[in-house]
Amino acid sequence: MRFSKLGESLAQLEKTTKRLEMTATLAQLFKDASADDIAPIIYLTQERLGPAFAPIDFGIGDALAAQALAKATGKDIDAIKKQFKTKGDYGIVAQKLLTNKGNTLTIKQVYDRLMEIATTSGEGTVERKTDLLADLLKKLSGEEARYVLRIPLGQLRLGIGDPTVMEGLSWSVTGDKTLRAPIERAYNVCCDLGAVARIFKSDGVAALEKIQVKVGNPVRMALAERAKSSEDIVTRLGKCAIEPKYDGLRAQIHKNGDDVRIYSRNLEETTAMFPDIVEGVRKQFKAKTAILEGEALAYDSETGDFLPFQITTQRKRKYDIDEFKEKLPLKLLAFDLLYADGKDVTRLGYKERHALLEKFIVKGDTLEVAEQVVTQDAIAIEKFFMEKIEHGLEGIMAKRLDSTYQAGARNFNWIKLKRSYQGHLTDTVDGVIVGYIRGRGMRARFGIGALLVAVYDDKEDKFATVTKIGTGFSDEEWPKLRELLDKIVKEKQPARVDALLVPDVWVEPKYVIEMQADEITRSTIHTAGKTDDELGYALRFPRVIGFIRADKKPEDATTVKEILKMFEKQGKSGEVTNEE
Ligand code: ATP
Repeated sequence: MRFSKLGESLAQLEKTTKRLEMTATLAQLFKDASADDIAPIIYLTQERLGPAFAPIDFGIGDALAAQALAKATGKDIDAIKKQFKTKGDYGIVAQKLLTNKGNTLTIKQVYDRLMEIATTSGEGTVERKTDLLADLLKKLSGEEARYVLRIPLGQLRLGIGDPTVMEGLSWSVTGDKTLRAPIERAYNVCCDLGAVARIFKSDGVAALEKIQVKVGNPVRMALAERAKSSEDIVTRLGKCAIEPKYDGLRAQIHKNGDDVRIYSRNLEETTAMFPDIVEGVRKQFKAKTAILEGEALAYDSETGDFLPFQITTQRKRKYDIDEFKEKLPLKLLAFDLLYADGKDVTRLGYKERHALLEKFIVKGDTLEVAEQVVTQDAIAIEKFFMEKIEHGLEGIMAKRLDSTYQAGARNFNWIKLKRSYQGHLTDTVDGVIVGYIRGRGMRARFGIGALLVAVYDDKEDKFATVTKIGTGFSDEEWPKLRELLDKIVKEKQPARVDALLVPDVWVEPKYVIEMQADEITRSTIHTAGKTDDELGYALRFPRVIGFIRADKKPEDATTVKEILKMFEKQGKSGEVTNEE
């Protein structure tokens, strides 16, 4: 397929913020594409060269784009930079300057060239990259160049999330979203939408069933539902495994001989941060190949006590890693096994997986199997829960004994019971910042005084507002936050944001914050859960806990569905407020 065809679709996508129209455009593109084209199309549309878990830096910034444009057009670089100043976008500058007819290159050729630029290294890299990009630009029309530059510069601004791509794939075959579920299952297992699409396109939907977990491809993590009480757990699960809910960092560990990689809750590779865990897994995990999961926790090496989350999280750093490894050693409390010695074990029951996990771990300093009791006695669960709370933990996790590992699923196979704070919701809400309001009074000097925050509507792939929040950040944190947000300002309401309230400044939905609130109320002002006939939902008296949750992507925020469930669980009809 010609690159110009992708350019046309991107132009169409740019014109709309309506999800249905986006889906239909993508579907048509996927329908026309060959099995070889479809992965590059998906990666490029999402401004990448491969799956998110293995980021390949394009290696093209503003300066290089300007140089390459100057070279391709013979124009003066200062004139080009001046144009950029007024247009604010090298895509538009390129479109104006390049007058060729283009339409000669295929998507694959453009993708391969971008990959070549990305992987060029060694002496003279900048010149070589500039030459390669200039040569590419010379072969393109202005319209094509607009996108070829916007993609590596992260300027597409289309807001196409994974769910929209998955629905587009389904639509491309059936004209509706009926195939989203099998596509999503496959995606949850391998985290590579390009690979899923290629198999879907070449071998059909049935072939997706055969995709198995693979060492090196992170697996979307299984998540927990909430329970009200120990009785609630027993009613739902009967006899079950009860474990402490450790308050650390979730780690999914992939072992291939001595090659050990660690992925975080949002599937970013964090291997370099935790050399002690890498070493521990090499020494203490006796399967040659494996995928295991656990919680990484800092501990006091004298008393052996686990340290609070705020301390553990100091280990998430890019510098001084060795110093912090000594200062704050980590333990990995392993609780699940997905793959071992060449076999996908996700379809075994939890009990069997756990038995295997125990079998493979030998005694040592770093790896331990998470503490566990198996019971169906609500009183025993309550006792275990109280014991853990007294030790400063957050609560407990209950697990269904015969449950398979369901990648990416949040259901009652795992149930969390957390300490409840009187008068508060029993769980916190993770929201995505979509805008900010300039401060009044004391905050005026920061230029930011409150945030407009949304939850994720995973059905519609959009962010719907749930609160305006101005409490919880310190005077040091507000300016820091403003600096971060000012880098992602949007002129208009961003594509996937659903809001009635208009903040002073819109920002790209990127940063997740954790909020505690007293309750959930119905709202005329917020759009979470709002339909033509139903009011929305909002948080009452929200305050931020901590700073930004770097371990969550916007799509990992609390969902509208969860807000509805939390509303039901609080057991009150919930008064309507017009609180912002
Ligand atoms: P979620 O991960 O469900 O979106 P969250 O990030 O707010 O929500 P919690 O709901 O507080 O986290 O709890 C789930 C997390 O608890 C897991 O992702 C994992 O990191 C942690 N955890 C601690 N102990 C265990 C355990 N024994 N089994 C499973 N997870 C555990």
